[in-house]
Amino acid sequence: MAVSITDYNLEYRCSTDDAWYTCAVVLDDVNRNLRVKFRDFVQSFYDEVFSVANFSTHSEIEQFLLRFRPVSKPVEDYECSGIIQGMLVCAIYRNKDEALYFDAVVDAVRYKAHKPEECLCSYLLCWQHGPGNGNVTKSTIEDICLITDGAIHPKLIEFANLMKQQLKGASVQSQVFGSAGHSSHVGSSAELSDHDIDMGGVKTTGRHHYIMLENLEKDLCPLLMMDFIHEHTSITAESYVFPSLLAETYARGAIMVDSTTKLKRIYDFINNPNHIITSFSGRPWVLAEDDLRTGTFNANLHSLQPKYENYGTKNELKVVRLGTEEYRECKQQKDLFLEFRGHVNGLVKRLGMEEKKNRDLFSFCKL
Ligand SMILES: [Zn+2]
Repeated sequence: MAVSITDYNLEYRCSTDDAWYTCAVVLDDVNRNLRVKFRDFVQSFYDEVFSVANFSTHSEIEQFLLRFRPVSKPVEDYECSGIIQGMLVCAIYRNKDEALYFDAVVDAVRYKAHKPEECLCSYLLCWQHGPGNGNVTKSTIEDICLITDGAIHPKLIEFANLMKQQLKGASVQSQVFGSAGHSSHVGSSAELSDHDIDMGGVKTTGRHHYIMLENLEKDLCPLLMMDFIHEHTSITAESYVFPSLLAETYARGAIMVDSTTKLKRIYDFINNPNHIITSFSGRPWVLAEDDLRTGTFNANLHSLQPKYENYGTKNELKVVRLGTEEYRECKQQKDLFLEFRGHVNGLVKRLGMEEKKNRDLFSFCKL
């Protein structure tokens, strides 16, 4: 099938070397398969072909969808100040004769005074996967691309729906909603509904590592949280938004992963002083406590999840950068919340003391 140059608008994380490649996707409805064509290897010999039959769980479908995203954008020399510490970028990792694209978090930046047409700054990148995983190396602007946001590709949605039908046919039980599903808040993907998608990158048994969040929008969809975390850290985390009291203006939530390293990275991303994460209406996320917690859950936490019908346009999330007017506004909101929480924590402590005093008194009287 003919593919035009404009069709190469996706990035695909290849299964053999885990690197990102620019690609196009071609859906074959009849044979129910999806062909991934690489821009830099045009012969069909190099194509990767996925059949609907290759997928047997919702989790596999979801992991598959996460291997695609819109093509990352190169950064112009004059845009160098836009690359800041803590940011997730896609960059060239040089290893022997190879130069392939992987995701990295900007660990540090050394800005230098220079003319707009030639950037002299340097960036320390901490690699998130691939041969350099965990290493920190020095890069310059020509090796760095900005990861872009965008709706999931319509062909991928179609393919995911074919896979879903196949699973239904195999009478696989629908999972309860919790997290995951890279595309469920995309308007055109209505068919990929929440309860058809199962959990993300976390096993249902064993030890879990989690952090608690506060000041979330009450109707924030956990799928959005999960997408957002993945977009900025490349980590698939389970996300929860808990029901709150009617009188409360905000909700609590949790982010859960299967390793402390992953959790620390998510924690650092949320806690990065160079930005604030907020909803579109401007409610800033607040870490409920500084601790990274560990626990074992075998109860299905998902049953505590309200059902979200309204993922779509409402309450998307965004990163508000330090130095902007918006940041100042968000900071003010965040400080207001922290002050409120300080009062609440004081009262909670006081209640604990009063309760203990009463108990001590009762047991004394019984003597
Ligand atoms: Zn520069």
